[in-house]
Order: sequence, then C-alpha cells, then structure tokens
Amino acid sequence: MIKDIRIGNGIDVHRFVEGRKLILGGVEIPHTHGLLGHSDADALLHAISDALLGALALGDIGKYFPDDDMKFKDADSKQFLLEINKLVADKGFKIQNIDTTLLLQKPKISPYVDKMKEVIANLLQLEKDRISIKATTTEKLGYIGREEGVIAEATVLLVKF
Ligand code: MG
Repeated sequence: MIKDIRIGNGIDVHRFVEGRKLILGGVEIPHTHGLLGHSDADALLHAISDALLGALALGDIGKYFPDDDMKFKDADSKQFLLEINKLVADKGFKIQNIDTTLLLQKPKISPYVDKMKEVIANLLQLEKDRISIKATTTEKLGYIGREEGVIAEATVLLVKF
C-alpha cells in the first residue's frame, strides 16, 4: 500500500568558461569550456538534488551546501546528491524515477548519457531504467544557443510504502 507520493522539480544554470572541466551527471566530458561554479558546477546533479529537496519541501541545495562556504569549494557534487538522498531515505521515501533534460548547444552529450545514468544509479542505489537523461539544443536561440551556458532540469517522483 502506498502511504504518500511526492513530486519534485529542480532547475540549475551554469555559465561556460575557459579553463574549467565540464562535468555533467558526474561524468567528465571533453570540451573547450567547462562550467563555472563554487563546486564542480555539475548542473545535472544540482537539478536532481533540488528536485529531491523540492519533493520533500526541504528547501534548496544552497541551504545545505552554501556557495560562500569554503568547505564546498570545488566540491564533488556527487557528495551533495548522496547526502540529499539520505534525507529522502530518512523521511521514509524511495525514488521511483528521475526524468531530466539538459539544454545546451554544444557539446553533444549523447555519447555520455549511459555513463551518467550508471553514475547516478550507483549513487542513488536505483535501477538504471528509472533514470532518464534527455538533451536538447535551443536551435541557437538565447544564451544557450550562444554557448554561454547550460540549463539542467529534473523531475523526480518519490513514494512512501
Ligand atoms: Mg548549481
């Protein structure tokens, strides 16, 4: 019997700069630019983290891992997701599925999607087929189209049995 069902969404935006690694979904992707941020700027893991917090109405990632705290300088965002997943378990919920979309003009991320799913599945102890990672360009429109940054969006469903 299902006792409770929660849905959550998360959005994150990071800017492209030279001289940084591009890390999305916990996977390093070879590119001319990387994402700027206090942590490793993994927009996809940040969006998933925020979606989980949103489902639980527990605030946002900035509340738990402030970007002015030196403790989190260049932090591995996998750590953030792990800790937030503990909150999900503490509240008695289980993730049913995660659906995400990355908006970026370049680079093509399809060759890395399977690896990203594997990383996220391992982190969250979830079957890979419960994780969806989609990507789209914006047809060269706006700041995404000008290759100035990345948007990541995530939706999660949590169930308490
Ligand atoms: Mg972020």
